[in-house]
Amino acid sequence: MTESVKVVRTLRDLRKLTAKWRQAGKTVALVPTMGALHAGHLSLVKLAKKKADKAVVSIFVNPTQFAPNEDLSRYPRDEAGDLQKLSHADADLVWSPSVEEMYPEGFSTGVRPGDAASDLEGAFRAHHFCGVATVCCKLFNQVTPDIAIFGEKDYQQLTVFRQMVRDLDMPLKLVAGPTKREKDGLALSSRNAYLTEAERKIATALYAVISELAEDAANGADIPTAVVNAKRKLVTAGFTKIDYVEVRDAETLSAAATDGRPLRVLVAAWLGKTRLIDNVPV
Ligand code: AMP
Repeated sequence: MTESVKVVRTLRDLRKLTAKWRQAGKTVALVPTMGALHAGHLSLVKLAKKKADKAVVSIFVNPTQFAPNEDLSRYPRDEAGDLQKLSHADADLVWSPSVEEMYPEGFSTGVRPGDAASDLEGAFRAHHFCGVATVCCKLFNQVTPDIAIFGEKDYQQLTVFRQMVRDLDMPLKLVAGPTKREKDGLALSSRNAYLTEAERKIATALYAVISELAEDAANGADIPTAVVNAKRKLVTAGFTKIDYVEVRDAETLSAAATDGRPLRVLVAAWLGKTRLIDNVPV
């Protein structure tokens, strides 16, 4: 039988354990998550095991990255299921602090993320990246990993973190894992659980449409025209609202240049009450 993964909930216990690893010369990889784990998260744990001696997975649904009108209260939670999956994935430690442990009385400092956070998600979710950058900065200071692993699924988040680690000289390396998808192309996401059966069928169009857009851009199509076509296809497929479909510089997320730098297609669109994001390389 698989041994259950160890869970710590206080910073004191976390530090005791990681100090022992440090003394023994072990390297540590951190995989930050908000729980409701799926195969995408587990692929990052696998990468962590490959890249370091010890894999720590944090589970923390961070209230400061949700706006008051967002889905904090209904965000899926399944700690028992998560721990079972992480035991099977051979994670070494789960760091699962309470909100009070993470943000004790009087907490008031924040990280102001850089330019990469300024639009796309930043335009639709005003304080999101400040919350995300602050909690990740805290997680890095708490776990002191050699490596932190993030998914390309949240491509702008990854870009914001790369900038933060570089700008603030954080002593760790970021590693990105590819997006895991369902057979029909839909990117795995904890939020897919919100989709009705009918919405789930429509959702498959998201990856198909951005893949076509990426191909058009690669073939030299006029980007503004190709973007309009992509938006029309999403609406025709049944998406109820489109926040953005953009082709951007893959490194900085600034406007796409025509000088052959790598590009990335990024999308956020709604199916009823559920907002899906995805991205693909050009
Ligand atoms: P979350 O719990 O949704 O905040 O995600 C935790 C980490 O898992 C982030 O680095 C995400 O980018 C990553 N992730 C989420 N979905 C996927 C996926 N389908 N494939 C790979 N990584 C993912």
